[in-house]
Amino acid sequence: VNGLKKYFPVKNQLGQKSAFVKAVDDVSFKLYEGKTLGLVGESGCGKSTTGRSLLRLIEPTSGSALFEGKDIFKLKGKELREARQDLQMVFQDPFSSLNPRKRIGEILEEPLKIHNLGSSAERTEKVMDILHKVGLNVDHYYRYPHEFSGGQRQRIVLARALILNPKIIVCDEPVSALDVSTQAQIVNLLRGLQEELKLTYLFIAHDISVVRHISDQIGVMYLGNIVEYADTDNIFAEPLHPYTQALLSAVPKSSPTAVRERIVLKGEIPSPLNPPSGCVFHPRCPMATELCSKEIPVNKEARPGHFVKCHLY
Ligand code: SF4
Ligand code: MG
Repeated sequence: VNGLKKYFPVKNQLGQKSAFVKAVDDVSFKLYEGKTLGLVGESGCGKSTTGRSLLRLIEPTSGSALFEGKDIFKLKGKELREARQDLQMVFQDPFSSLNPRKRIGEILEEPLKIHNLGSSAERTEKVMDILHKVGLNVDHYYRYPHEFSGGQRQRIVLARALILNPKIIVCDEPVSALDVSTQAQIVNLLRGLQEELKLTYLFIAHDISVVRHISDQIGVMYLGNIVEYADTDNIFAEPLHPYTQALLSAVPKSSPTAVRERIVLKGEIPSPLNPPSGCVFHPRCPMATELCSKEIPVNKEARPGHFVKCHLY
């Protein structure tokens, strides 16, 4: 993904477009086949907008997304419909994303019908197979969503995303609504399915400790920007951006001897309608200098494969 921007126009009192909310402002990253990129940051930083733009659930303002030799952002009509089979999304809230009036079997069969795939018998077989893959069983086929727990519903949502044999799945806070032990089960299931089906994930979460165990790379987002991007181990071993350092300082230490002072950031995230000048993080940054409010830092490769947008590097 190269230079993705998503600006939402905002209207003034006369109904004229007067400004833009820069929800995603020039974001670039790579997804490697069979791997997971974790996108983390506080709510409103542009993570979900990035994921939705990638799948064309919302229209990107500019940028490109190369996938199997084609730019996803330019696809239309039949080509877009075909690409959509390869690109699926798992939403945060398994309670609202399943139609309460439909049985699980119908819900899972629907995407196959929409894409006109297989005979009725073949579709049923496919649904049974997917139910099994996500750890549910044949009995669940005839049940309704309300008969399931949150964790089971998230399995159903995952099954629906898998039914078309996708290659890339955008998982938008897939475990945030679940209790901690169920979170671990779903993360383990996602990892198992990734291995079995060679899936590629863009895994979105506000909690960096959640993405740690599933991500090969991590991108840290702040106010529409990826401010740091590196292999997961490098992010945890040597976070470079002051914002990442603050996020990690809030994660419980892995060993009692690990020294990490809690860094408490001042203030709230500014509005993306009126972002700060220079480095967007400067009003909250404990390391900010005069330069930071004046000049936008460029994305630098500070260590091999470790990128950071900060004047300190
Ligand atoms: Fe902090 Fe300046 Fe780096 Fe921005 S550029 S993160 S304000 S030190
Ligand atoms: Mg979100």
